[in-house]
Amino acid sequence: MYRHDQNHINNMTKLSTILDNDCMLNLVSEFSRLEEKCYLDSAGAALYPKSLINKISGDLISNVYMNPHSDQYTKDCIDQIRCLVLNHFNTDPSKYTVIFTSGTTQSLKLVTESFQFVSTADENNQGSFLYLRDNHTSVIGLREIAKERNVDIIYISHDDFLKTVQTPQNQKEHEFDTSRGNSLLVYPAQSNFNGYKYPLDCIQNIKCGCLNTYLKKQLCAVHTNWFVLIDAASYVPTSNLDLSECEPDFVCLSFYKMFGYPTGLGALIVRNKNGTVPFLSIVALKHCFDVLKDLIPRAIEYDVMKTIANHTFYLAQDLYNQLCLLKHENGVKAAVLYMDSNFNDIKKQGSIVTFNLLRKDRSYIGYAEHMADLFNIAIRTGCLCNSGACQRLLNIDNKEMKAMYSAGHKCGDNIDLINGKPTGAIRVSFGYYNTFSDVDKLIAMICKCFVKIEIPKHIRIMNMNTNVTKSNNEVFENIYLRSIILDEEDNNLHNEIPRSNSAMYLSEIAIFPIKSCGAFKVTAWKIGPKGFEYDREWMIIKDNGVCLTQKNYPQMCIIRPEINLKTKTLVLNCEGMYPLSVPLAPGVMNAYHESTFCRSKVCTDVIKGYDCGEEAADWVSNALGISYLRLIRQSFEDSRLSKAGDIQLSLSNQAQFLLVNKATVQWLKNKILDPLFDDDIDSLIDRFRGNLIIDTPQELIEKEWKKVFIGDHEFRVDGQCTRCQMVCIDQKTGEKTVEPLRTISEQFAGKLRFGIYLSYVGTVSGSNSRSIQVFSPVEPVHNQEESPK
Ligand SMILES: *Cc1c(COP(=O)(O)O)cnc(C)c1O
Repeated sequence: MYRHDQNHINNMTKLSTILDNDCMLNLVSEFSRLEEKCYLDSAGAALYPKSLINKISGDLISNVYMNPHSDQYTKDCIDQIRCLVLNHFNTDPSKYTVIFTSGTTQSLKLVTESFQFVSTADENNQGSFLYLRDNHTSVIGLREIAKERNVDIIYISHDDFLKTVQTPQNQKEHEFDTSRGNSLLVYPAQSNFNGYKYPLDCIQNIKCGCLNTYLKKQLCAVHTNWFVLIDAASYVPTSNLDLSECEPDFVCLSFYKMFGYPTGLGALIVRNKNGTVPFLSIVALKHCFDVLKDLIPRAIEYDVMKTIANHTFYLAQDLYNQLCLLKHENGVKAAVLYMDSNFNDIKKQGSIVTFNLLRKDRSYIGYAEHMADLFNIAIRTGCLCNSGACQRLLNIDNKEMKAMYSAGHKCGDNIDLINGKPTGAIRVSFGYYNTFSDVDKLIAMICKCFVKIEIPKHIRIMNMNTNVTKSNNEVFENIYLRSIILDEEDNNLHNEIPRSNSAMYLSEIAIFPIKSCGAFKVTAWKIGPKGFEYDREWMIIKDNGVCLTQKNYPQMCIIRPEINLKTKTLVLNCEGMYPLSVPLAPGVMNAYHESTFCRSKVCTDVIKGYDCGEEAADWVSNALGISYLRLIRQSFEDSRLSKAGDIQLSLSNQAQFLLVNKATVQWLKNKILDPLFDDDIDSLIDRFRGNLIIDTPQELIEKEWKKVFIGDHEFRVDGQCTRCQMVCIDQKTGEKTVEPLRTISEQFAGKLRFGIYLSYVGTVSGSNSRSIQVFSPVEPVHNQEESPK
């Protein structure tokens, strides 16, 4: 997926078992906007190709579509598209009808709400609502609707279901009998959890009543007609659904999972029904089918979907095989896989791989998602909206499930380990745009972060063409280790300083004049109403008004602003560029001449600010290599408050000051075993971007503080800082590293807390000084303890 890699890949590596490299590169070029991102969450949503959006906008611009109730042309188009949908699933309007809905969830609801459970001839006969336990949450939610309709609700386990529906019946399919009740069975064509494909050739058998024995065991009425509702949302994006072969009564799907666009549109495929339709989205759908046909060559059985199914299947199979073989140095397997098939049959397995990672002592590793995010890989973790499959495959019993919930775990949160046991899994899912190099990137990330072995040399055997993948290390070096070369920054501020005679003292003061840019270190500084004066009072915004942050633009730290109080200027510095001076206050020296009032968003707050003019805008755009940036000064009238609403904030994220303890950082440094991580203590401290760096004889003590006095100033502790991936950015170079996040997440059991937030209370002992100096003594107040002064 990476432009600079393409030649390389062309010569050396096959990208797909099914599609040749030229074709694959052409496909991938439709998604060049991903740049370095490795997208492995197609089961969450597909990505839309560029040409699709071009076609749709061209169509909408050149045609006039009106409400289909009043406009015949639009109505005809929609009917055409219904045909297209049916053709895609190898059927036609004489057999099935398409109802457009807002998505799978709505389609499922529609069926359950309108399904005729009660016999039309005899109202004493009523059918049941039966669902596979390993369904998506959206299906599980149907229980509520079924409950309102007063029908028996029963579930069937994965094993019971497979056993029952595959037992041949002697009975022939009986004619629809109006005197019987009607039962509805819901199961997925493919598990969204691990890609297992449930059988579709058993529908006939179900209609013959093979599930009656199961109903009987559950003490439900067996005098019933059977209807089958297939949740095809996870199946159809990468498999061909042939409705002429299997004949379910209802099929539900969402189009964004197939095409990436349009969102908010799905279908219920059923007999003889109709509904009101979101018409512009439907118009777009025509192009979805067209573009897919144009993009994908018919390499397998002259069929687009079979080609996609095979291409993605072999990618997932390859990942599965690599994970099965992955071992720590001591021979312990590094991955636990949660699959219901071993990828030997495309009929039973889709392009999803679900697993967890183990350390060499066999304990589970949590937080893989954070690491993947750092490496620009999109994967999904958690229960994956399928608690049935999650519970079954991770072997969580009901008691443990309850304990997890009472420990505060809920679906979609960040708690991935409770008592060392995983509450969810990692899901990797492939789309037609993925290639083997995406698999390699993921494996390289896993090796680098978790397995700590050389990336195993992987021989990839192709069906059509035997070929060896290029060395994974090379991919790795090219993609992740982007480094910006910079000279050593002068650290002279704190090099020659004598130690204070107090055991706990302030060792460093840092302010960050421009949000997310480099630090300006000083020996003494004034405290203003929002924190340190000039701390985070500027920000850089994009042309759409959105504030740039270091999380998305790590290179921001190479801009090193300084405050020159003599000349009353903000001096912008960056290696390789002439410094630029910008007046501290608007209206001075005419530099804010072009100042316009502008608004931007920082952490969902609206900020008022002054634009610092063209020269500053050009300078920051050049420094960061991003066009149309603007430098903005926070307006003096802006009174941004903290979340609790009691203190004023500058453009910092949540608090006035961040205090970091050097002793704690030293403790962390000693825990980091990675030989590749060579930060000295000062560089490591810099990563935490604290304003007040203290040193104490003992590590971690600051976590217990309630208040702290530094020199003549009193601060209140507002909580611990939840550190995110930012600490992985080397503040000298903007380069991303795995450490120290990996060690922090290990040592703090997943709670990434480091440093404490402070807000200013005031001066003590009658002092009226507003400034604070390095070497000032630090005196903490613990919980419950009295003030020392
Ligand atoms: C995604 C998904 C759903 C829900 O689809 P929506 O578009 O959110 O309504 C239901 N079932 C399965 C199997 C899915 O993968």
